[in-house]
Amino acid sequence: MPGLEDLYREIILDHYRSPRNRGELPVPPAHKVEGFNPLCGDEVVLYLDVDPDTDTVRDVKIAGQGCSISQASTSMMSAAVKGKSVAEARQLIRAFKALMSIHEHKLEGEGDGADLQAELEGVRLGDLEALQGVVKFPVRIKCATLAWNTLQQGLDETG
Ligand code: ZN
Repeated sequence: MPGLEDLYREIILDHYRSPRNRGELPVPPAHKVEGFNPLCGDEVVLYLDVDPDTDTVRDVKIAGQGCSISQASTSMMSAAVKGKSVAEARQLIRAFKALMSIHEHKLEGEGDGADLQAELEGVRLGDLEALQGVVKFPVRIKCATLAWNTLQQGLDETG
Protein backbone atom coordinates (compact mmCIF):
# COMPACT_ATOMS: atom_id res chain seq x y z
CA MET A 1 0.00 0.00 0.00
CA PRO A 2 1.48 3.33 -1.01
CA GLY A 3 2.25 5.78 1.76
CA LEU A 4 0.77 9.22 2.14
CA GLU A 5 3.92 10.82 0.69
CA ASP A 6 3.54 8.78 -2.50
CA LEU A 7 -0.13 9.68 -2.75
CA TYR A 8 0.68 13.37 -2.31
CA ARG A 9 3.41 13.15 -4.95
CA GLU A 10 0.96 11.54 -7.37
CA ILE A 11 -1.65 14.26 -6.85
CA ILE A 12 0.93 17.00 -7.42
CA LEU A 13 2.38 15.38 -10.54
CA ASP A 14 -1.12 14.86 -11.92
CA HIS A 15 -1.94 18.56 -11.57
CA TYR A 16 1.47 19.55 -12.94
CA ARG A 17 1.15 17.34 -16.02
CA SER A 18 -2.56 17.98 -16.61
CA PRO A 19 -3.25 21.44 -15.21
CA ARG A 20 -6.94 22.22 -14.71
CA ASN A 21 -8.52 25.33 -16.22
CA ARG A 22 -5.51 26.24 -18.33
CA GLY A 23 -6.21 29.00 -20.86
CA GLU A 24 -7.32 32.60 -21.09
CA LEU A 25 -10.50 34.63 -20.67
CA PRO A 26 -11.36 37.82 -22.55
CA VAL A 27 -10.30 40.94 -20.62
CA PRO A 28 -12.64 42.61 -19.84
CA PRO A 29 -15.03 41.33 -18.54
CA ALA A 30 -12.47 39.03 -16.88
CA HIS A 31 -9.72 40.48 -14.72
CA LYS A 32 -6.10 39.52 -15.37
CA VAL A 33 -3.61 39.36 -12.54
CA GLU A 34 -0.01 38.15 -12.50
CA GLY A 35 2.21 36.86 -9.73
CA PHE A 36 5.94 36.20 -9.66
CA ASN A 37 8.18 34.37 -7.23
CA PRO A 38 11.72 35.62 -7.84
CA LEU A 39 13.21 33.02 -5.47
CA CYS A 40 12.32 30.23 -7.87
CA GLY A 41 11.33 32.00 -11.10
CA ASP A 42 7.70 30.89 -10.83
CA GLU A 43 5.16 32.83 -12.81
CA VAL A 44 1.39 32.69 -12.38
CA VAL A 45 -1.20 34.39 -14.57
CA LEU A 46 -4.85 34.30 -13.52
CA TYR A 47 -7.95 35.30 -15.42
CA LEU A 48 -10.80 35.88 -12.99
CA ASP A 49 -14.41 36.22 -14.00
CA VAL A 50 -16.28 37.40 -10.93
CA ASP A 51 -20.03 37.89 -11.26
CA PRO A 52 -20.74 41.17 -9.44
CA ASP A 53 -24.44 40.34 -9.01
CA THR A 54 -23.92 37.08 -7.14
CA ASP A 55 -20.35 37.76 -5.93
CA THR A 56 -19.30 34.42 -7.35
CA VAL A 57 -16.11 33.31 -9.10
CA ARG A 58 -17.93 32.37 -12.30
CA ASP A 59 -14.83 31.22 -14.13
CA VAL A 60 -11.08 31.10 -13.69
CA LYS A 61 -8.32 30.32 -16.16
CA ILE A 62 -4.63 29.94 -15.45
CA ALA A 63 -1.40 30.43 -17.36
CA GLY A 64 2.26 30.82 -16.48
CA GLN A 65 5.25 28.62 -15.91
CA GLY A 66 7.48 27.45 -13.11
CA CYS A 67 8.34 24.56 -10.86
CA SER A 68 6.00 21.62 -10.31
CA ILE A 69 4.90 22.87 -6.88
CA SER A 70 3.90 26.32 -8.10
CA GLN A 71 2.10 25.03 -11.18
CA ALA A 72 0.34 22.19 -9.36
CA SER A 73 -0.74 24.61 -6.63
CA THR A 74 -2.13 27.00 -9.27
CA SER A 75 -4.07 24.18 -10.92
CA MET A 76 -5.46 22.99 -7.58
CA MET A 77 -6.37 26.53 -6.59
CA SER A 78 -8.29 27.10 -9.84
CA ALA A 79 -10.28 23.91 -9.35
CA ALA A 80 -10.96 24.75 -5.71
CA VAL A 81 -12.31 28.28 -6.20
CA LYS A 82 -14.18 27.94 -9.50
CA GLY A 83 -17.90 28.36 -8.88
CA LYS A 84 -17.35 29.41 -5.28
CA SER A 85 -18.52 32.66 -3.76
CA VAL A 86 -15.86 35.33 -3.24
CA ALA A 87 -16.28 34.85 0.52
CA GLU A 88 -15.64 31.13 0.19
CA ALA A 89 -12.61 31.79 -2.02
CA ARG A 90 -11.18 34.14 0.58
CA GLN A 91 -11.78 31.53 3.27
CA LEU A 92 -9.83 29.01 1.18
CA ILE A 93 -6.97 31.50 0.81
CA ARG A 94 -6.80 31.92 4.58
CA ALA A 95 -7.02 28.18 5.18
CA PHE A 96 -4.32 27.36 2.67
CA LYS A 97 -1.97 29.99 4.06
CA ALA A 98 -2.64 28.64 7.54
CA LEU A 99 -1.77 25.16 6.33
CA MET A 100 1.57 26.44 5.04
CA SER A 101 2.22 28.60 8.09
CA ILE A 102 1.63 25.76 10.52
CA HIS A 103 4.28 23.85 8.65
CA GLU A 104 6.64 26.81 8.72
CA HIS A 105 6.12 27.29 12.44
CA LYS A 106 6.83 23.64 13.10
CA LEU A 107 10.05 23.88 11.09
CA GLU A 108 11.10 26.88 13.15
CA GLY A 109 10.02 25.26 16.40
CA GLU A 110 7.51 27.95 17.25
CA GLY A 111 4.86 25.86 18.95
CA ASP A 112 2.15 23.82 17.28
CA GLY A 113 0.31 26.63 15.48
CA ALA A 114 -2.92 26.08 17.40
CA ASP A 115 -4.13 29.58 16.57
CA LEU A 116 -3.59 28.93 12.86
CA GLN A 117 -5.34 25.59 13.18
CA ALA A 118 -8.50 27.54 13.97
CA GLU A 119 -8.41 29.01 10.44
CA LEU A 120 -8.63 25.51 9.07
CA GLU A 121 -11.74 24.61 11.06
CA GLY A 122 -14.57 23.58 8.80
CA VAL A 123 -12.64 24.21 5.57
CA ARG A 124 -12.21 21.28 3.23
CA LEU A 125 -8.92 21.58 1.38
CA GLY A 126 -9.07 18.18 -0.30
CA ASP A 127 -6.25 17.73 -2.79
CA LEU A 128 -4.63 20.90 -1.56
CA GLU A 129 -3.45 19.10 1.53
CA ALA A 130 -1.10 17.21 -0.76
CA LEU A 131 1.07 20.30 -0.93
CA GLN A 132 1.62 20.19 2.81
CA GLY A 133 3.61 16.99 2.34
CA VAL A 134 6.18 18.37 -0.07
CA VAL A 135 6.76 21.78 1.42
CA LYS A 136 9.71 20.59 3.42
CA PHE A 137 11.85 23.63 2.83
CA PRO A 138 10.71 27.17 3.64
CA VAL A 139 11.73 28.34 0.15
CA ARG A 140 9.17 25.96 -1.37
CA ILE A 141 6.36 27.53 0.65
CA LYS A 142 6.66 30.60 -1.59
CA CYS A 143 6.13 28.34 -4.62
CA ALA A 144 2.99 26.84 -3.09
CA THR A 145 1.45 30.11 -1.89
CA LEU A 146 2.16 32.14 -5.07
CA ALA A 147 -1.13 31.19 -6.74
CA TRP A 148 -3.06 32.07 -3.59
CA ASN A 149 -1.39 35.44 -3.10
CA THR A 150 -2.10 36.20 -6.75
CA LEU A 151 -5.74 35.16 -6.32
CA GLN A 152 -6.02 37.39 -3.26
CA GLN A 153 -4.63 40.33 -5.22
CA GLY A 154 -7.08 39.61 -8.05
CA LEU A 155 -10.07 39.47 -5.70
CA ASP A 156 -8.99 42.69 -4.00
CA GLU A 157 -8.73 44.42 -7.37
CA THR A 158 -12.12 43.19 -8.60
CA GLY A 159 -13.89 43.68 -5.27
ZN1 ZN B 1 8.91 27.19 -7.41
